[in-house]
Amino acid sequence: MTKILVIAEHLGGKLNGSTARAVSAAAAVKPDAIDVIVLSDAPDAVAAEAAKIDGVSKVLTIARAENAHSLAAVYAPQIVKVASGYTHVFVPSTTFGKDLAPRVAALLGVSQVSDVMSVEGPHTFKRPIYAGNAIVTVEVDATSTVVATIRTASWAAAASNGSAPVEPLNVEPLLPSHTRFVNLQQGKSDRPDLQGAPKVVSGGRGVGSKENFEIVYKFADKIGAAVGASRAAVDAGYVPNELQVGQTGKIIAPELYIAVGISGAIQHLTGIKDAGTIVAINKDGEAPIFEIADIGLVGDLFKILPELEAAIG
Ligand SMILES: Cc1cc2nc3c(=O)[nH]c(=O)nc-3n(C[C@H](O)[C@H](O)[C@H](O)COP(=O)(O)OP(=O)(O)OC[C@H]3O[C@@H](n4cnc5c(N)ncnc54)[C@H](O)[C@@H]3O)c2cc1C
Repeated sequence: MTKILVIAEHLGGKLNGSTARAVSAAAAVKPDAIDVIVLSDAPDAVAAEAAKIDGVSKVLTIARAENAHSLAAVYAPQIVKVASGYTHVFVPSTTFGKDLAPRVAALLGVSQVSDVMSVEGPHTFKRPIYAGNAIVTVEVDATSTVVATIRTASWAAAASNGSAPVEPLNVEPLLPSHTRFVNLQQGKSDRPDLQGAPKVVSGGRGVGSKENFEIVYKFADKIGAAVGASRAAVDAGYVPNELQVGQTGKIIAPELYIAVGISGAIQHLTGIKDAGTIVAINKDGEAPIFEIADIGLVGDLFKILPELEAAIG
């Protein structure tokens, strides 16, 4: 019997869309059951959202004061207590999942499968390696629990027409005292979240400075897009590093990606492989970004962006 436990990612009482993507990956295994687990001090609202995801058999909740903040060291022992009844544990391959899954795998004494992009069988998965230049097929020992992170950009979110039952759990794990929550520092922005936004405008080193980046923000706001950046732009201090797109940044799959003053290094492209339409604005007609762009505009970004903005009206 194949049973998959999907760990819900949430913040501020809201379920993150990555959870429904992990459920899609779980459904591809064709299991007998997919259960979602919500760890929180007050899990009800998140559990109600998770219960609507198509394909979910039931939602399990662990309500504890220690779960008020997402701490991998605190979550992992609780998940391990529940995982014994499951053949697979899936977590979205977001910062949350990349932090949590290795601890769960280590406590279960298994190797983690990272960045699952397709399911070939219950124990056979495909994942990208070498910045997405090669795809490797991974075979997992069928006798041990599969702990996997799910490459969210490769999976569409499961629809929200379900009504799974919610079941509170009481587990008494030994929680660590070496890790405690101090505070959460996050950039406040009214712009869409980079990881889930359908439209993203990213700026690179070509934008030239933090002040110049205003032109990217302005254009993004005009079209209701999230803002991203290349690593060079982040390293130069033009934007904070949570905006970085690419191998060591965020892997995203927007419907529209506009790269402004970005050359198209392989480490950047690996973050946008699953984007729908890619538009590149670059003054160098030989820039590698044009090899993968669906629409290329060769010219000065400081001329082209205001022109585009004016054309949109
Ligand atoms: C292990 C490793 C991991 C990495 N991870 C990442 C990652 O996650 N994300 C990432 O982005 N990079 C990553 N990099 C860095 C990557 O190799 C490149 O250095 C980086 O992506 C380059 O950023 P860029 O395109 O903004 O800068 P550049 O390569 O310098 O390109 C700037 C571009 O702007 C254009 N330009 C300049 N002025 C204008 C103008 N006025 N108008 C129009 N165009 C203009 C230029 O023609 C040029 O093509 C990684 C590298 C390594 C080794």
